Amino acid sequence: MDFSNATELDDALLHALLIRHTHPYRHDGLKVRVRYSRGADFSGTCFGAQDKIYVNLGRANRYPYTLGTNVARARTTCTGWRRDIFRLTVRDASQLVLFVYLHELYHWLVRGAGRSPHRKEAMCDRFATAVLVDCYGCALRSGDGRPAPRGEWDFKDLHAFVARAPQARKSGQAARRPIPVTIRDGENRAKSRPPRVLATRGFAGTIPPGIATVVCADGDDAIDIRRGRLTNGVGPLAG
Ligand SMILES: [Zn+2]
Repeated sequence: MDFSNATELDDALLHALLIRHTHPYRHDGLKVRVRYSRGADFSGTCFGAQDKIYVNLGRANRYPYTLGTNVARARTTCTGWRRDIFRLTVRDASQLVLFVYLHELYHWLVRGAGRSPHRKEAMCDRFATAVLVDCYGCALRSGDGRPAPRGEWDFKDLHAFVARAPQARKSGQAARRPIPVTIRDGENRAKSRPPRVLATRGFAGTIPPGIATVVCADGDDAIDIRRGRLTNGVGPLAG
C-alpha cells in the first residue's frame, strides 16, 4: 500500500490499522491518502481506475462520534422503498478513518472482482460496519435507538461477493496461520483489576469458552471474541 497521512493521527499506527483490515486482499497497487476535509465531518472517494482511495476527516469532530449508515435492509412501502438509518458510534478519529477507508476499499474490491460498481453503497457500509462492530465493539443502533439485531443488517456474505478480487494469499492458508496472541480472562472481572493472562502462544483455532479478550502479542490491538471464535477483521479463523 502506498500510504500517506496528512492528519495529526500517528502515521505508523494508522497505516498498520488499515493494512490489518485490508487482509486478505492484495493492496500493493493501492494508493491511500488520508487528509483533513474542507469542512465535512468525513468523506471518502475511490478512484477505481487509478487504484486510489481518499479519506477525508473533519478537523472539529467530537468523539465518540455517531454516523448514519445505510446498512439496514431496504423495505418496500406503498410509494416505493425506504431504508432505515442505523447509527454507528465510533470511539475516535482513527476508527472514523477506518470506517471510511473500508467503505471505499469495498468499492475497490467490487471493481477488482469484476462486479458491477452500481448501487453498492449499502454493501460498502455493511462491510465497514462489520469490522467496527466485531473488532472494536462499536455500538450500532436502529432508527428507534435499540441495538440493531444482527440479522437486520448482516445477511449477505460480503467476502464471497468479492472473492475474485486479488488476495495476498489463499484464505485457507491464512486461516491456518497461527497468530501470536495473549489470551486473557473473562468479561465479568472487576474493572479495577487488570485482566489475568491465561495463555500466550501462537493461536489458530477455537477459543475456549469463557475467554473474553485476545490481544495480539505485540500489544497493538484488541481482538473481540464472537461466538467462541477468533476474528481478526477478516472473519473467523478455523482451527
Ligand atoms: Zn460509497
